[in-house]
Amino acid sequence: MKELQERICQNGIVLSDSVLKVDAFLNHQVDSALAMKIGQEFAKHFGDKEITKVLTIEASGIQFALATAFALGVPFVYAKKKKAVTQTDELYTAFVHSFTRQETYQISIQKRYLQKGERVLIVDDFLATGAALIGLCDIVQDAEAELVGVGCVVEKSFQEGRGLLEQRGVAIHSLARIESMSPDTGIQFID
Ligand code: 5GP
Repeated sequence: MKELQERICQNGIVLSDSVLKVDAFLNHQVDSALAMKIGQEFAKHFGDKEITKVLTIEASGIQFALATAFALGVPFVYAKKKKAVTQTDELYTAFVHSFTRQETYQISIQKRYLQKGERVLIVDDFLATGAALIGLCDIVQDAEAELVGVGCVVEKSFQEGRGLLEQRGVAIHSLARIESMSPDTGIQFID
């Protein structure tokens, strides 16, 4: 997605060879028009797959899942990272190790919001090590729902996430694929 790549070059900050800061427009302050276009792009790519639900993980996937789900005309549900007192129902859970926070946490979704046989598209802001997305894939499998594919806004292709998802036969659509980056030389995209 050309517009996204241009914004990453303009407003992204390469903090190191492996961490890209995009909080000016993607995951802290959010450019709402860009987020909606991202949703439309995912909806266009996966539009013929009869998706019944979009799934993501809080917090940074929510704006893109909302935009995608709205474009597809389906609901979205996000996995929570902390158990709330209102979560009294049965849960699907998975453990995820966070690349950026360097901690392991449990994600959960109430079972009644992910039914057997649903056709699920997973959407998230970054594909890095793949841990978050693999946790969501495990939950889809536990629910006996069908995973249609994964949409990532930014993929750091030099990390292992894509390979791990492909080993599981997951169809991945990333809107900006970064081949390499460094604070000195900037960002190289895969076209
Ligand atoms: P994973 O390693 O599980 O693929 O990435 C998990 C989450 O870490 C992503 O959804 C994203 O929120 C965050 N993350 C991973 N790499 C980066 C990065 O380079 N920059 C930012 N801002 N977040 C990242």
